[in-house]
Amino acid sequence: MKYNIVQNVLFLLRGIKKEHPFLLVLISMQIVLSVISPIFGIYIPKLALDLVLDQADSRQIFLSLGVLGLIMALSMALRGMADDGKYMLYNDMRRYYQTELLLKFFSCDYKNVESYEGQTKYQKARSTLRGGDWSGTSVMLVSAIDIAVNTLCFIIYSGIVSTLSPLIILILILLSFISLLGTRHAQNYEHAHQDEEAVYEKKLGYVNRMGSDIQFGKDMRLYHAGGWFRELRDSLIEESTRLANKIQNRYFVSGMINALVLLLRDGIAYAYLIYSVSAGNITISEFTLYFGALTAFSGFVSNMVDSMNQLNGANQQMNSMRSFMDQEDEPEIGSPKELTDLKDYSIEFRDVCFSYQPDAGMVLNHFDLKINPGEKIALVGVNGAGKTTIVKLLCGFYKPDSGQILIGGHDICTFRKKDLLKLFSAVFQDIYIPPFTVLENVSMQKKEFSDENKARECLIKSGLWEKIASCEAGIDAPMTREITEGLVLSGGQQQKLLMARALYKDAPILILDEPTAALDPIAESQTYEQFHKIASDKTTIYISHRLASTRFCDKIAFLSNGRIMEEGTHEELMLRSGAYREMFALQSKYYQNQEGGMEYAES
Ligand code: ADP
Repeated sequence: MKYNIVQNVLFLLRGIKKEHPFLLVLISMQIVLSVISPIFGIYIPKLALDLVLDQADSRQIFLSLGVLGLIMALSMALRGMADDGKYMLYNDMRRYYQTELLLKFFSCDYKNVESYEGQTKYQKARSTLRGGDWSGTSVMLVSAIDIAVNTLCFIIYSGIVSTLSPLIILILILLSFISLLGTRHAQNYEHAHQDEEAVYEKKLGYVNRMGSDIQFGKDMRLYHAGGWFRELRDSLIEESTRLANKIQNRYFVSGMINALVLLLRDGIAYAYLIYSVSAGNITISEFTLYFGALTAFSGFVSNMVDSMNQLNGANQQMNSMRSFMDQEDEPEIGSPKELTDLKDYSIEFRDVCFSYQPDAGMVLNHFDLKINPGEKIALVGVNGAGKTTIVKLLCGFYKPDSGQILIGGHDICTFRKKDLLKLFSAVFQDIYIPPFTVLENVSMQKKEFSDENKARECLIKSGLWEKIASCEAGIDAPMTREITEGLVLSGGQQQKLLMARALYKDAPILILDEPTAALDPIAESQTYEQFHKIASDKTTIYISHRLASTRFCDKIAFLSNGRIMEEGTHEELMLRSGAYREMFALQSKYYQNQEGGMEYAES
């Protein structure tokens, strides 16, 4: 959806009314004062000349000019104040939209931000709010106010100039319009290449983020990857600069055309004025007034053209932001099932087919799976077999192309999305530990809403309590070094923290999606078994590509090419001479040879 300038200005004004109503007062003040101030500027010289030519006494001259000068100075001072305050609040508004964008990013349908298109769209939306006073929202407001001021001034000054010659007004407007078209062409070119710019920004942002991420600091040093990183960064900067230059060249050409057009415009106007005074059509004091009015009038028309151009650019940016904000989530079901309707937490995938993109291959191909209430099931298979995709579908992040997913006998699409997510506690592969306290990291809520005893219990169960208790601030210790001098945990300890988080949520279905991929196989096996002990009677899904880690499960589903190839307990699968047994033997052999890990011996 593309909004026009008026719609986007109104959108921003509605946001201001909600967040900073005082800003509306400042804006109105600025408009009124900006219109009044220059009028004094052109009337004072005419008045001075009239008074001198009429031989008024010096007291009267000083009094009249003094009062007018004072009012002008006062209105300019007030305008300056309104201007300063306004810029601060514009930045506040920009931050407000940044927060809104972030909240949308976190709350919108997962598929809208996981896809490549979704990420590019988000990148474009974010760039609207970058650049401080040059961000899309600030420029839009500044230009809209400028247009309002200049339009009002234009009307007032048209009245003055038209008494000289209406034709001059027409010529001024016509030539200004030509310069508007020139800049518009450059802007349209820039907008047409915005996607390309967003891709460079995304790549550069990634390189910068990774380059400064301390997690990779060791690898960067060990492998002397600095030079390679620099090359990568330089080549991206080079490509993005090439594009920026192409855009700038267009602005340069349009700037040159504008300058010539404006020279012509002002030349015509002043030539006419000089002709009028020398022909005796106007007096000297009128010449002063018209000269001031024409100079200001040309300025207003130029400003209107500039503001229109800026507004046009800002409008395109605003549309990028709003197109991300407006993205519709899949509609919720009309009369959703309540979670209380669930008698048990059995899970069933019934003939599910799924692909990420219509033209991409099928990830799940007529996939069937049944998990009984309280059952511990393992989804195993090589990387890329579709294990995580099953979890994404189960959590409702994506919808199957065909088939059904049922929990407790009800199709999951009959639940509200947020209700469905209440059913799961999960520990994923990517560890995310925000810089909150340990307690807040376990409860994933602010301290005042967290249950400290429950969090402690979960940390005891997950085996991390001893470590936390040894910290001076205990459970209130801040975490990570990103923002504060916080607690840093080892890989294994981080897993335990995430397990405590999953336990704290106390959801009926637990998912462990290879959170231990970064750990060694023995640590993974121990972690899974420990989790098995604390998972009690909850339905639990264990995902791994290391078959030895999930031997304890009630059922193991061996996945390949989006289907279950074999299913049964570890012992049953080992009795068959199938793919599972073959892969298990291979992995065991590898571990025996490579690590001497008797833990993994087949026997
Ligand atoms: P596993 O968890 O078994 O390693 P995944 O479920 O992550 O496998 O991936 C299954 C297949 O789907 C892989 O071929 C992977 O490349 C593809 N895939 C995963 N996520 C996406 C995505 N967001 N967009 C497109 N393809 C994806």
